[in-house]
Amino acid sequence: MSNLFYQAQGRKPTLDQSRGVYMWDQDGKRYLDGSSGAMVCNIGHSNENVLTAMRRQMEKSTFGYRLHFETEASEHLATKLANLMPEGLNKVFFVSGGSEAVETGLKLARQYAVTTGQGSRWKVISRAPGYHGCSLGALAVTGYAPLTAPFEPMMRQMPKIPAPRAYLDGLDADDPATGLHYADMLEQKILAEGPDSVLAFLVEPVGGASTGALVPPRGYMERIREICTRHGVLLIMDEVMTGAGRTGKFLGSDHWLARPDIVVMSKGLGAGYMPLGAMIADDRLVAPVLDQGGFAHGFTYAGNPLACAAGLAVVNEIEMQGLCANAAEQGDRLLARLNGLMQKYELIGDVRGKGLLTAFEFMADRNSKAPLPAGLNAHQRFVDIAYAKGLIVYSRRTRDGTHGDHILVCPPLIVSDAHMDEIVEGLDASLAQFSHEIY
Ligand code: PMP
Repeated sequence: MSNLFYQAQGRKPTLDQSRGVYMWDQDGKRYLDGSSGAMVCNIGHSNENVLTAMRRQMEKSTFGYRLHFETEASEHLATKLANLMPEGLNKVFFVSGGSEAVETGLKLARQYAVTTGQGSRWKVISRAPGYHGCSLGALAVTGYAPLTAPFEPMMRQMPKIPAPRAYLDGLDADDPATGLHYADMLEQKILAEGPDSVLAFLVEPVGGASTGALVPPRGYMERIREICTRHGVLLIMDEVMTGAGRTGKFLGSDHWLARPDIVVMSKGLGAGYMPLGAMIADDRLVAPVLDQGGFAHGFTYAGNPLACAAGLAVVNEIEMQGLCANAAEQGDRLLARLNGLMQKYELIGDVRGKGLLTAFEFMADRNSKAPLPAGLNAHQRFVDIAYAKGLIVYSRRTRDGTHGDHILVCPPLIVSDAHMDEIVEGLDASLAQFSHEIY
């Protein structure tokens, strides 16, 4: 009997070792990590350079409280990140995870508004489906009813607009009119709420767990930027999943001309070596807050040297190994091969993604886009089949959490052609079994 209680799906094998793209359980069974944990382990497991950097830091000091000491590791990582951000985003606040990073971004936005005479602005518009974390503030901006409903009214519900899902609405995502159609929903929402009450728009550049690697339609992001600027609304990019090279560029939002005011990152930054997140803000937002007493915020472990030393080594690996370019290249290959599987398996209704944030979605009928019945629990069954074959993939129910199953295939960015063959063979064999079992 385990004393842990988060294993909703029953007991799992016990992890023994992880190296590169592989993991082994205590019975010696090998798994290919086709989901990088939960899109975390971007540079693969047990990278020797990161371990060396961590060992060095551990021998010097594992903790220095940020109000007592500056540390070299946090200074260097902050500088590194600022250099990788769009111009002007050069103020970094470290945290220990994605939800903390989102909370930090929301609080900085609010404190900026208060200190600059815009205290009426507090509403954060976000999207449904959307996922931004499990703390109460992050949940308030999460558009995913099964996660939010049990906790009402403990958080203040924020306004939502639909996430663009052109494939479900029968629209062409490559037609710029589609991007404008969805982006203009933001402007309508701002006007309906009252522009003076709207603080920020929070968006995942490419949908992660929420919409399953769904890429925004052409023109969407640029128009969103324009609308935010027009109404004095801050644009916050949730790069928790898309950041650190996952989509083929360092930031997911680097794919578009839509400069964020605030970026929040986590998963791939600590890359499974240490819990680490960051909020990176435009200097223009931070300056007035610092001028008027400072940011009323901070977690105990923020900026601890061990996490920052790991993060710095991770970002160095991303650069040295050219992992953004590899993610772009292997991602294109994976998409093409998933499209091949879609030809073969009727149950796959859609394939999508950017870089190595890729997914396919099961449908009962491709024409009507009807999902598989929720009672089939198809996504979990597929994950279990693949797992038994030694391939780990990540799955979620989309379509507002009630039905619609998608499978995210997001291996570490270090994957080679041979790994990719193994992933596709594992998916093929799992799909064959799944198609057989589901009917
Ligand atoms: N934002 C996004 C886009 C995420 O994908 C996640 C985690 N899946 C979070 C925020 C929350 O991150 P964490 O679980 O590290 O708190």
